[in-house]
Amino acid sequence: MYQLKLLQLLGIHEYENSFYLEINLQLDEEAHVFWEVDSETALSLKRVSDFSNEHLYRLSFHTNNNKSSITKHYLDQSTRIEFTCSDQYIEALTALKQLEAITELDKLPFISRKLAKNTSQEASQMLESEVKDGSVPKTKRKLSWLITPLLITVLAIFTAYTGHSILISASTLPSGEALWVDRPSADKALSLEEEQVKEKPKTMLLKENITIVENHKTPYVELIEDISSKLPKGMVALTFDDGPSQFTGEIVDILKEFGVGGTFFTIGTNVKQYPEQVKYIAENGFSIGTHSMTHANLAASSKSKQEKELVQSSEAIEAITGEQVTLFRPPFGAMNDTTTRIVTSHGKKTVLWNNDTRDWETRNAGKIIQHIKTTDVTGSIILLHETKATVDALPAIITYLLEQDLQIVTLR
Ligand SMILES: [Zn+2]
Repeated sequence: MYQLKLLQLLGIHEYENSFYLEINLQLDEEAHVFWEVDSETALSLKRVSDFSNEHLYRLSFHTNNNKSSITKHYLDQSTRIEFTCSDQYIEALTALKQLEAITELDKLPFISRKLAKNTSQEASQMLESEVKDGSVPKTKRKLSWLITPLLITVLAIFTAYTGHSILISASTLPSGEALWVDRPSADKALSLEEEQVKEKPKTMLLKENITIVENHKTPYVELIEDISSKLPKGMVALTFDDGPSQFTGEIVDILKEFGVGGTFFTIGTNVKQYPEQVKYIAENGFSIGTHSMTHANLAASSKSKQEKELVQSSEAIEAITGEQVTLFRPPFGAMNDTTTRIVTSHGKKTVLWNNDTRDWETRNAGKIIQHIKTTDVTGSIILLHETKATVDALPAIITYLLEQDLQIVTLR
């Protein structure tokens, strides 16, 4: 069974002419240990991290040509930054990745439980002032990685979005990943940062014509093309068709638990049958698109029938959520020029997919997971359906995608 493995970086220390990463590894249990690394990797990591603030850092398990990345979490923002690493670091990272239980951690030669056996004075050469003897971290360092997503969510809810934007330097990111991270405006009454200078939100278009925004709930991308079937590399979208259903709530809860995005393409008749589920999707910040009123084959339908399928289903969703429906997915992926014209004239965007799990056919969680693991997932829009098998497979799918270092986004 797949296990979520998270590697949090708490500090970088120099002690007796060696460098150590202070890490928190979450596996079946959590362990707070020190990882001896070469000076080059330590310094390269130090350049992209700052432990004087309340930032939380997650180290990626993924490397590519002596490059790896670190994700910085702060309030509602998360940004990924690349750093250079040695072969030695990659070897150690691989060993950590292959660990199956925390108890095996002590067998790794580069891991130690403490930096110094005795007193704080011995650790005088530390790069970071916070840590004294390495075994007694400051309270803020004890923040469990497990509660981090929760913390971020809570902070996000109680923190104002001032429209403040940050630009991640293109030079510090993997190619094609330069992006603006926006903090959308929200209820000013909740503001805890009123002194902060207000800026107009900015967005930047990527090559692929997609605006990337991260909000307080789930990271999302705003599609710009009339018809989309893929995403930029480094991202992936999970899409759930044919609901809402008795499984919607569970799917939403799993997405929430992992703090990842999701998009639901609902059928109008089901929307009327499960209005509470529609509300639940929207309340939790996930997207709802229309998948027609009756799951009709639009390519084989008249113009008026097509329009009715689109409009009625959108109105059914809008009556519940109060938000305009902007995404559409044709049943069976079947559409013609008339469909495109109608969809565009109603200001909606068509979302297809480029990764079909065939979950509706197998109805088998193991096979769905196997499919995901054997296909090229980066940049994919994954097609799933609201079934028991999908619910059962979802935690393993998300874990796998996160381990591939992908950002799981909601589509808008
Ligand atoms: Zn369908």
